[in-house]
Amino acid sequence: MTLLTGSCLCGQVRITVRGAPVRVGICHCTDCRQESGSAFTFFGIWPARQFEHTGEAASFSVRSFCPHCGGRVFSVDTHEAEVKLGILSDAPSPLTLSYELWIKRREPWLRPIDGAEQYDEDRSLRSARSIHPRNRTRSDNITDILPSPRLRPPSQRLSTSRPKRASGGP
Ligand SMILES: [Zn+2]
Ligand SMILES: [Zn+2]
Repeated sequence: MTLLTGSCLCGQVRITVRGAPVRVGICHCTDCRQESGSAFTFFGIWPARQFEHTGEAASFSVRSFCPHCGGRVFSVDTHEAEVKLGILSDAPSPLTLSYELWIKRREPWLRPIDGAEQYDEDRSLRSARSIHPRNRTRSDNITDILPSPRLRPPSQRLSTSRPKRASGGP
């Protein structure tokens, strides 16, 4: 079985994922830009049972990071783990990109990745919560009963106070 390992910059937080990811994507949304300080994030989703980590991670919303070096590492709930693939030990990674999110925020000097599904925003309203809480609009609330294809922390399920942009999305 394929085993991939990775760590934050200082090495305090380490992760291991077993087997193939459910999907691999990059996201150009404003949340991901501000979290990473870069033009997009590159992540893979694994079933939570195929993910392990060592070292103490801090988190903001559902996004975990190393409190020592600040490296962004993963987001995990009881179902899925989203791993920032830039932390993998081997670069480039052996993984193939399956989709791009929030391409309307993509820098004009970046081009669509061949073979990757293209989404103007999230894949669906159901995925607009979770890792991208600020991307939600009021109308998304009607889908709260549906399971999320990305990560949805229990603590946010009934929250109505998460920050929103007046424009309805980053
Ligand atoms: Zn670190
Ligand atoms: Zn994003």
